Amino acid sequence: MSQKTVRIISAIIAGVIAFTLVFALVAEIAIYGKASAAQTVSSLNKQLTNLQNEKAKIQKELKAIEAKKQSTMTKKAALDQQIDVTEREIDTINSLIKALDVQIAEAAAELAAAEAEEREQTEAFLTRVRVMEEEGTPSMIGIILSADSFSDMITRTELIGSIVEGDKKLLAQIAETRSKIAEKKAVLDNSRAEQANAKRTLVDRQNSLESQYKEANTLIKSLNASAAEYEKAFDEAERAMASTRASLQKLLSTSTSSKYVGGEFRWPTKATRITSYYGTRKDPITKKSSMHTGIDIGSGMGTEIYAANSGTVVVAGWSSKGYGNYVVIDHGGGKSTLYAHMSKIKTKKGAKVTKGDVIGLVGSTGYSTGPHLHFEILINGKHTDPMKYFNKA
Ligand SMILES: [Zn+2]
Repeated sequence: MSQKTVRIISAIIAGVIAFTLVFALVAEIAIYGKASAAQTVSSLNKQLTNLQNEKAKIQKELKAIEAKKQSTMTKKAALDQQIDVTEREIDTINSLIKALDVQIAEAAAELAAAEAEEREQTEAFLTRVRVMEEEGTPSMIGIILSADSFSDMITRTELIGSIVEGDKKLLAQIAETRSKIAEKKAVLDNSRAEQANAKRTLVDRQNSLESQYKEANTLIKSLNASAAEYEKAFDEAERAMASTRASLQKLLSTSTSSKYVGGEFRWPTKATRITSYYGTRKDPITKKSSMHTGIDIGSGMGTEIYAANSGTVVVAGWSSKGYGNYVVIDHGGGKSTLYAHMSKIKTKKGAKVTKGDVIGLVGSTGYSTGPHLHFEILINGKHTDPMKYFNKA
């Protein structure tokens, strides 16, 4: 075979390989674009970007509040929202880490399949070479078998230059599989790197959540130092809670025509320590009398809050200077329950809940000096002593 023929064959092989490489890459992108794990990851990343924007907005707000020397409760409300965004960020990052686990498993499986395919194709090619050798083609072909890498094998094959159409096809297939392997490896490496990054961000956000909680609590405690500030916060909270109760009464007196779901109320959380009972109390600092419309159950941040009975969630909302994150469940027959100062609401307005369902987590949002559950029982929208419904043991 002449030098010229060898060169032509080499050029053909190179062309075929280049074409298959490009084709494989395009096909790969098309497949990954459709993959659900990748879609989940990208939508979660979008969500994280949105949360970043929300955080930046709150940061600006906080600066403005500081500059205008607005009330402590206004600042607390902004801090509560910052905490809420950080918590949603942590949830999103956790989902992202899980979605990347799926993506990593998928990529690893695809990589293993491609590697098995490559082994099969190489074996087929080597078998083909052995056949050629048996048919008495130049003994140089034996050299191919001792190639220590794929590119080496191609070089050796090109040098021999005696490959036929079928062999070219096999080589092209191997090249395609090789590029597929490289692609899968890249996806796998990227997903792993992204996940490692997400895990670092998670730790960072958990730390900032800690300090945000501390800041919010310190802020409320600092009220004690300034009588004027304290009174302002106290009045703001009274007004906020009174207005929430007024709208609740309106809502609950018109909505309830259904029958009571029946049965007894269950205790709304694992914690049992009551830190403040229902009834009139005199504020130790302002000396003003105020009505405590429910009971406070002292509990750790994030403790689960249960629906005291089955019913329909009529409010899953936010009252910045009063109840914070709060939920109201209508149990029918004019009976409803209210859960306030949650760190997180775990239900939605309109949801049907069953007694014992987790509807939120204990927090310190709104007018609250530390994590606790403020729990109310309402009869036709009017507060009553919740302890009447529980056995005082
Ligand atoms: Zn309370």
